[in-house]
Amino acid sequence: MKNAIYPGSFDPITIGHLNIIRRSAEIFDRLTVCVMVNAGKNPMFSLEERVELIRRVVKDLPNVEVDYSSELLAEYARKKGSCVIVKGLRAGSDFESEFQMAMINHKINPDLDTMFLTAEHQYTYLSSSMVKELGRYNVDLKDFLPEEIIPDFLERIKK
Ligand code: ADP
Repeated sequence: MKNAIYPGSFDPITIGHLNIIRRSAEIFDRLTVCVMVNAGKNPMFSLEERVELIRRVVKDLPNVEVDYSSELLAEYARKKGSCVIVKGLRAGSDFESEFQMAMINHKINPDLDTMFLTAEHQYTYLSSSMVKELGRYNVDLKDFLPEEIIPDFLERIKK
């Protein structure tokens, strides 16, 4: 049984994230999407809200579960019995920090490997922060966010 973890902030989940989730769910027997606490960021949605939004968009994927954690990722993976972390790689700018993270995680937990999936070209520009910026203007969001969460996003951005 091959388990993998896809960690991130997912504030909120975009269709770029969803693309990585769908592709990973085809490769692994079980995929845990894990919302990680990031002390450096001031999130739009709480951890619980982000988990709920992700659950809503992955409900058709039976081998995907959604969780959150404030632990070190390498420790969380050890407890889950997962040996692979999945990361999406957009442009070169993602590479340096992701490469460093992968090395650190492997150092802390030598059983843990990181696998990178390259973003599909139509999503390489897409990030949660870009969507939050666009949300302030009157832009159609369906090319950026899963349709099921657009009302929640619009409601929140008004505040
Ligand atoms: P962001 O806030 O930049 O959208 P997250 O921390 O939520 O990023 O991202 C979690 C993971 O998903 C990271 O590995 C990131 O590189 C990847 N990712 C984010 N957006 C995309 C995208 N559009 N296509 C592919 N991978 C992505």
